[in-house]
Amino acid sequence: MASYHFKCKDIGMNCQYEASAKKAEDLIPQIAEHAKTAHNITEINDDLKQKVNAAIKRRLF
Ligand SMILES: [Zn+2]
Repeated sequence: MASYHFKCKDIGMNCQYEASAKKAEDLIPQIAEHAKTAHNITEINDDLKQKVNAAIKRRLF
């Protein structure tokens, strides 16, 4: 079973936030919510989306 992990600091934020989910698609809303509440980023543009996608790591168990 694979899982997907995201660390906010991997996109250059000075932030300890981490998220994980079983599907990458499930991770995006969590990251979007965090970006809004913690970093005042209300809109994830293509540039940021690319950074986020690049920072998502897939792990196998
Ligand atoms: Zn953050």
